[in-house]
This record gives sequence, structure tokens and C-alpha cells, in this order.
Amino acid sequence: MTLGRFAPSPTGVLHLGNLRTALASWLSARKAGGRWLIRMEDVDGPRCRRDLGEAQLRDLAVLGLESDGPVLWQSGRSAAYREALAALQRADRLYPCLCTRKDLQLLASAPHLEDGLRPYPGRCRDRAWEGFDRALRLRLPPGEVAWQDLLLGAQVDDPGALTGDPLLFRRDGCFAYHLAVVVDDGAQGVTEVVRGVDLRSVTATQVRLQEALGLPRPAYAHLGLVAAPDGGRLGKRAGALGLGSLASQGIPVLELVGWLGWSLGCQDRSEPCTAADLIAAFDWARVPKGEVRVPGAWS
Ligand SMILES: [Zn+2]
Repeated sequence: MTLGRFAPSPTGVLHLGNLRTALASWLSARKAGGRWLIRMEDVDGPRCRRDLGEAQLRDLAVLGLESDGPVLWQSGRSAAYREALAALQRADRLYPCLCTRKDLQLLASAPHLEDGLRPYPGRCRDRAWEGFDRALRLRLPPGEVAWQDLLLGAQVDDPGALTGDPLLFRRDGCFAYHLAVVVDDGAQGVTEVVRGVDLRSVTATQVRLQEALGLPRPAYAHLGLVAAPDGGRLGKRAGALGLGSLASQGIPVLELVGWLGWSLGCQDRSEPCTAADLIAAFDWARVPKGEVRVPGAWS
């Protein structure tokens, strides 16, 4: 059975791009007769706040998107992440990384990649095991990873060139994003991951981590981003173009859902409707692959 999920970080208001991703993942699961879960990715220390997560859940519920099971908060999952690290260590797949942020900047060799996506060059790969109180990286095997993206079609990436050996545990004691995502998708039995195309470049790395942990590989779909009316990035506008600001402009929720449905290829024109009205028409073959712009009147 299909099990989809939406996994926001509770660091702010869900903007239209986040809401579109949530709706697409829900529609895809519902169309397949499957289930859908919400997970809060709140491992990133103080930037994540419980009240922001609760507000995100309320916004999703207003759109008609409610988790079919309990919402999983990653901040309560340390034991599972520790267990996964221990399994990787027993398989000799982890090594301590003593690089500082400055070391990594000096070693960066791929300036064409977006900041934060420079591959780790493997400087500490041959370092001997020193225990679990160091920053830890996964030793990637060489080679490319191929997958069939539900939206983008056949994809091939070399994780070594995109991320290099991923950080799984940080020196400050926090579990890293890749570890939490992969462990929880596996533990929850997620079969379908729908997310923004900005995360496409980490897919191959996460597939390698799934393989190392003996977890099944879910299907992936990477959606084009939603841009502001002027083409700017929505994520850069704190609090703008979320449900609250649209409501304060007098835009009814059903109009917003209708627009999101139109942007996902479920309607020929943007007509007000509920999320459930869109299920029958949802089809990955009709979802546009590129970027979508918010209507100018909503800015
Ligand atoms: Zn290092």
C-alpha cells in the first residue's frame, strides 16, 4: 500500500510552495488509495519550535490535509538515530570528521554548486574510529545511483560528486538531516517521498544511506518550486504568502486550494474547490515539471 508523507521543518510559516508540496503528496497517496503522514523535522536545534509546528499543522488542517496517524516529531527520536549510527559503525561505514567549517571552505572545489552543497572531499576518510562523541560521516561506495522519479523520469547522480560522504552526526551532538530523514522514512514504512526539486541533489546520497542501513527505497517525486510573482524565492520572504497572509488579503481557502490544484495539473482553470475534489484528476503525467509563479494579485 502507498504511504506518503509531508515532512516540514517547524522553523516558520508554511508558504505556498510548502503547501503545494503537501497537497501533491496527499493527492498522490489518496489517488493510490493509500495513507499519508505528517512528520515534523525538528532536529535542527533552537531554530525549530513546537509552537511553529503546531501552527503548521493547523494550516494543513485548514486545507483538509490531516495525518492518518500520529504526527512524528524527530526531536523525540534520538534513540532510533543512535541505534542506526551504531549499526553503521559495526559495518565499518562511519569515520570521525575533525574538519572545521573553515577547513571545508578552504577545501571546497566545486564553486558552481550552491552554497552548502559542496561535496565533502573526504579529507578524514582514513582516520581511525574515535568513538561516538565526534562528528561522523558515512563512507560512500563509489558509483552512480539511478532512480525513476515520478515527475522527472529517469535520473542518474553520482552522490560522491554532489555531497561527498554525508555528515550524519554533528560535533554539537545533533543528528544530521540525512540520517533523521532516512531512518524515519524506513521506520514509518514510507513508500513515496514527494518534495521540492531543491532536494533532488541529495536523493542519491540518501539512497546510499538506505542501502547501508538495509532499508527499502521509496519512490521519489521532485516538484518544481513556487516563485513569488516577481520570480523571487518564496522561502526568502519571512511569513509572506502563507495561509495567514493570504486570508488577511481576503483570499478564501477554497480559492487557494483551487489554485494549488490548477498548478498541479488537476484543473484546466483555477476554480475554487476542496482538496478532496482534486483526487480523481490527480496524475503525475499532468503535473508541470517547471517552476510555478504565484498570481500577482496575491503578493
Ligand atoms: Zn573531515
